[in-house]
Formats: sequence, structure tokens, C-alpha cells
Amino acid sequence: MFKKLVIATGNKGKLREIQHVLGKLNIEILPQSEFNVPECEEPYCTFIENALAKARHASKHTGLPALADDSGLCVDALQGAPGVLSARYAGKNQAHSLLTQDERNNDKLLQEMSSMSNRHAHFYCVMVLVRHEHDPEPIIAEGCWQGVILREYRGSDGFGYDPLFLDDKTGKTVAELPLDIKSRISHRGHAMAKLLQKLERLSNE
Ligand code: IMP
Repeated sequence: MFKKLVIATGNKGKLREIQHVLGKLNIEILPQSEFNVPECEEPYCTFIENALAKARHASKHTGLPALADDSGLCVDALQGAPGVLSARYAGKNQAHSLLTQDERNNDKLLQEMSSMSNRHAHFYCVMVLVRHEHDPEPIIAEGCWQGVILREYRGSDGFGYDPLFLDDKTGKTVAELPLDIKSRISHRGHAMAKLLQKLERLSNE
């Protein structure tokens, strides 16, 4: 088994969650920021294609195995939008806006859904691990999290759409959940758990 793994994300929220789970493995976890990996294009219309592109890109620039996650929010009444565009739903690069990118995305979502009574949505996450840039057998795991989109913000933790996404089972928004619980029940948590199982199986082969 490899001893080092680059995490192919510049998103601090995701990095924190991935490190939280992978900390249990006997592998050195390195954020791609330590290697000055240039930003990767995400031109595809599926999560899996974008995740593969990011993992291969990070592996190419570091010469190390790399793990990428592509994730997003899919709203039923919006035919799966914002989907792969979740990170830049409200458009990118608003240099003079006083709001953060996450705040602008959330405001846009509230606006788009203002007249909608079907509030059902899910988070989706796919994790892709490549052992080298041209790995023909990437390790792939996915996860899903069902919930509803509120009409106002609740909670202050987390990132992205967390303050608007109400978890069906706990009755709390993701921004009200401690990281420990989120890591267990989230789309990324489920994907990570499956990925860990696959890695353990491989390390025993
Ligand atoms: P990616 O970096 O292209 O995978 O985009 C992921 C985007 O989806 C994030 O920037 C958030 O807007 C959204 N997202 C993914 N996972 C979460 C989550 O756990 N909470 C809130 N928003 C999320």
C-alpha cells in the first residue's frame, strides 16, 4: 500500500472532513496546496468525470497517489441543479461583492426556490483515488444524503449549503450538526466509509 496521499481539493471545509476520517489510516495525508498544484478545470456534466479529472491532475503534478472528491447539491424541483455547478452556482469571481461565494450561492438558491413547495434535495459525493496519473483502475466510492431546503438560514458551522439543508432524520440543518455527526451521516461520510473498506480490502490482498 502507498504511504502518502495527496488530497486534491482547495476547499478547506472538505479538506477538514476528509482529514478527519482518513486520520485513522497509517498514511501521510497531504493537501495539494503544499505542492502548488494549479487549479484544475471541471468542464464535465457528471460528478464522476470531474472527480477523475481532479485526481489525475493532482497526481500528475505531485507524482503521488491522489484522492479527489466531487460533490454537490441536487434539488428535485430544479431537475438536479445546482449539481456539478454547486460551487459556482451564482457565478464566479465577484471581486467587489461583500458576500462570500457560499453566501451568494445560498441567496440564489433561496430566490430560485421561493415559489416552490417541493423542497426535497440531496447532497451527492463521489470520491476517486488514483495511484498514479494514468491509473486504469481508480478506486471509486459514492454517497448520498437526503434532506429538504429551508426558506431561511439556520446554524453557523460547516460550509456551502449547510445552513439551508435540513437533515430529514435529525431535524437539524447541517450547519447545526457537530463535525463528528456530519462525518458519520453525510454524503461525504458515506463515500469515505466505502472508500476505507475498499482500501482495507486492498491492503489485505
Ligand atoms: P466541488 O468542489 O466542485 O466538488 O463543489 C462542491 C460544492 O458543492 C461546494 O462548494 C458546496 O457548494 C457544495 N457542497 C458539497 N458538499 C457540501 C457539504 O457537505 N455541505 C455544503 N455544501 C456542499
